[in-house]
Amino acid sequence: MTQIVALIGHPLQHSISPVFQQAAFDYCQLNVRYEKWGTKMSHLKTTVDRLRQSSILGANVTIPHKEAVVPLLDELDELAARIGAVNTVVNRGGRLVGYNTDAHGFMMALRQEGGFEPRGKDVFLMGAGGAARSVGFALAEAGVKRLTIANRTPERAEGLAGSIRSKTGPDIEISTLTWEELESGKALLSSDLLVNCTSMGMKHGPMESNTPMGAGSIPKAALVYDLIYNPIETPLLREAKKAGAGVLGGLAMLVYQGAASFEIWVARKAPVDMMFEQARKSLS
Ligand code: NAP
Repeated sequence: MTQIVALIGHPLQHSISPVFQQAAFDYCQLNVRYEKWGTKMSHLKTTVDRLRQSSILGANVTIPHKEAVVPLLDELDELAARIGAVNTVVNRGGRLVGYNTDAHGFMMALRQEGGFEPRGKDVFLMGAGGAARSVGFALAEAGVKRLTIANRTPERAEGLAGSIRSKTGPDIEISTLTWEELESGKALLSSDLLVNCTSMGMKHGPMESNTPMGAGSIPKAALVYDLIYNPIETPLLREAKKAGAGVLGGLAMLVYQGAASFEIWVARKAPVDMMFEQARKSLS
């Protein structure tokens, strides 16, 4: 029987996960089909309940459902529970177990592709959704010195700052900045790393050609990491290059988090190099 892994999110046009995940299943000769299940928030519960069917191996959960899916699951792995966001679900005989592989994917890409060690660093985080939760916790647990969070909806930034504060020690300075301060061009001169976890600049999204900040706010010595992988060069990364800063796009994180999800679903090593190759090809 063919087993199904679903990708649950909205919108999904930008996503290349089906390309490299299907290639990985085929390469490993597994009878698994990776399907896009475009799902608006109002249908999330119905869609998640479908995952309990015996033909379903599991799912990836993406924008905007990574936090909303949490209370719909039966069990959470310890890391997903701490972060409060899930991007991977496994169907264990009708019980749905949630995992978070975004935090691992983010860190792997930051260290391997970005050559950046976050311990002791000053980090500026844009966004406070599901991806920002994973990134914020991963950075806090990696020992950053200072974390500043800005989000369009300020309550969400405060909420994320509070929940990271409550689960990490007093050694990290955590604060928030308003979106208006960011948009008015407040320079972030002390930041070593700036991370975009908003969907601003994402292909097929409503803010496709926008950037959360211009070159004037970006310190030259910083690394700018945009989680968006489609397009490869986002409006923010163009601004970062203008400022003379280092840049890292979201493709490597996507593949590392996807490889970790693959290993959770099928309990075997993921063909990571091949997944990278397929992901790059599909965006070129
Ligand atoms: P999400 O939970 O829906 O969060 C979206 C975030 O974007 C929120 O902070 C939201 O602010 C902000 N936002 C949306 N529209 C905005 C606008 N017009 N102006 C300013 N801020 C805006 O989504 P997510 O799952 O965190 O994903 C966020 C992005 O990261 C997506 O582009 C996704 O593709 C990318 N991502 C990439 C990877 C990877 O592996 N490379 C992994 C995860 C996510 P509000 O709170 O104010 O709504």
